[in-house]
Amino acid sequence: MADVFLTHDKARELLIHLSANGVEAFGPVEKDGIHIIEKIHEQSPINFDYFITTNSIKEALFPRYEKILSYKISQEGVEVEDVPLDKSIVIMGGHPCDAASIPLMEKLFGWDYKDKFFLKRRENSVVITLACEEADNDCFCTSLGYSPRGEVGSDILLERVSDNGWKVKTLTDKGKNFAKEYADYFQSSLEADKKYPKLADKDVPVQFDPKKVKKWIDGHFEDSLWEKIASNCWSCAACTYVCPTCHCFDITDDATMWSGIRTKNWDACTLPYFTLHASMHNPREEHFQRYRQRINHKYSIYVNLFEAVSCTGCGRCSRACGARVNILEAVKMIDNAAGGK
Ligand code: SF4
Ligand code: SF4
Repeated sequence: MADVFLTHDKARELLIHLSANGVEAFGPVEKDGIHIIEKIHEQSPINFDYFITTNSIKEALFPRYEKILSYKISQEGVEVEDVPLDKSIVIMGGHPCDAASIPLMEKLFGWDYKDKFFLKRRENSVVITLACEEADNDCFCTSLGYSPRGEVGSDILLERVSDNGWKVKTLTDKGKNFAKEYADYFQSSLEADKKYPKLADKDVPVQFDPKKVKKWIDGHFEDSLWEKIASNCWSCAACTYVCPTCHCFDITDDATMWSGIRTKNWDACTLPYFTLHASMHNPREEHFQRYRQRINHKYSIYVNLFEAVSCTGCGRCSRACGARVNILEAVKMIDNAAGGK
């Protein structure tokens, strides 16, 4: 197949065109010096020049807060109104460590209870990912088998070839159909600059063995290392909210006597209230117990359930943590305790 390219200008135009035509288009915007992925509108300050967005693309498929139904109560009974889930979604701007989170979350949301909200959005979405151009000391995707140019979970991968454009790799039928439908935005040539690509797998060294980490966790639920790892943690849950694979939520009713809406809202195992019983007993009273749960769930429990670690090595949780708790350092400490690589 002949090479196809997309410039930043055309990508911006495309996102705005999509959003003006009924598609939920998500893209990277620059606000107050940081880049975040959010729903695009005509005036959005779309900007593709960033290292990594602060939030992940998960909010396009699993919003922080969403109405899942509304209801009215009358003398005739209860009338329930479902929320339509038929909108097309296009997500452009995550990196391979974002896209790789989608198949991981699909395992959970398609497991014993089928979560139609996530699954329908996933079905209706096209995921367009930007291959990584840089890595920092918090990145560790390769330790989990991923790659800065990885294709897992993406429909289209954009690989930078110049300051203003990418080479387009269509990876799935969805991606091919999308590129065909919006062919006017793509072009058949673009002058490449030798300085790209900047990053290869070897630039993100493998730093631990997830199998050893799991084995140690399984045998050391009670170990003083957990307190050492999480001694700074103040249980703010920032790590959980920026993580592309954290997926806990609560269901709440906002209601009056005769009507209400039911909502699904992000929750976090790092918050003290997460396991607080009505009796006020909390089986995870200490900060380290909650942080242990976060690591244990990702690196052991998820592996038992789905044969996959629920972490893509994006490093967002470490960057977001004001208390400087660093997941890579934590997992390396466990790996060392297990005897190293
Ligand atoms: S590890 Fe850091 S970001 Fe996560 S809950 Fe603890 S203090 Fe907050
Ligand atoms: S646990 Fe941290 S490094 Fe792993 S996917 Fe979540 S935010 Fe990224």
